[in-house]
Amino acid sequence: MIVDILTIFPGIITPALSESLLGKAVDEGLLEINVHDIRDFTEDKHQSVDDAPFGGGAGMVMKVEPIYKGVKACIDSQPNLQSTVIVTSASGRRFDQQYAEELSRMEHLIVVCGRYKGIDARVMELFDVREVSIGDYVLTGGDFAALVMIEAMARLIPGYMSKFEAAETDSFTSGLLGYPEYTRPKEFMGLEVPEVLISGHHENIRKFRRRKALEKTLHNRPEMIDSIELNEEDKSIINELRSENSDSR
Ligand code: SAH
Repeated sequence: MIVDILTIFPGIITPALSESLLGKAVDEGLLEINVHDIRDFTEDKHQSVDDAPFGGGAGMVMKVEPIYKGVKACIDSQPNLQSTVIVTSASGRRFDQQYAEELSRMEHLIVVCGRYKGIDARVMELFDVREVSIGDYVLTGGDFAALVMIEAMARLIPGYMSKFEAAETDSFTSGLLGYPEYTRPKEFMGLEVPEVLISGHHENIRKFRRRKALEKTLHNRPEMIDSIELNEEDKSIINELRSENSDSR
């Protein structure tokens, strides 16, 4: 997969790409990430990327021409790949694990990071753009949003996790939140690791983890329970958890 990022702050993005597993994935060629400065696509001597909004009001708007040229250059640089243009936007479609999975199967992603009051809306008409938001809050710029999306998407690229982690047990992948994990030491400040995890009894460990995942989901994100298919074992665990909960009230 190739990812092109267009930003006016390459200094925010570039260091994050060389660290940790994302850095390794880039080193190992699972992923190629190119960071482009939108100013390089300007033609005036001040390299201006923003201007005052038509219609008035405070703040500045990112100009259409440099972004058009930048996105076009990225698309043209990969004539044999299917390019997908993403514009980070607080008013975009909400990013989630399912969307990360969809993106991880793409050939070429072009991610545009907005700033100021946002981007001239004509960018969205010039290309087949997906406007994407990472959550219901407003950031100062799209750079961290782009990193969040790329980080979530990259770890799902085939080959990435098999090397470093296990995606199947993550929150959301199973439709539930993740179960709690423990590592050495067995006891810390009087807190013992749950006995069952040391028992070596795989079936009991599986059941314990499933119960904990259901318990956490029921507590933190109850609406998720309604949208997944529960088996008989899950249903009886949920009934138990619900009655424990009402007993303790
Ligand atoms: N006026 C805009 C907010 C602009 S914030 C509005 O009301 O929607 C400036 C830039 O930050 C945006 O162009 C976008 O690229 C980025 N941004 C802000 N919040 C974001 C979010 N929740 N998800 C993704 N990008 C976001």
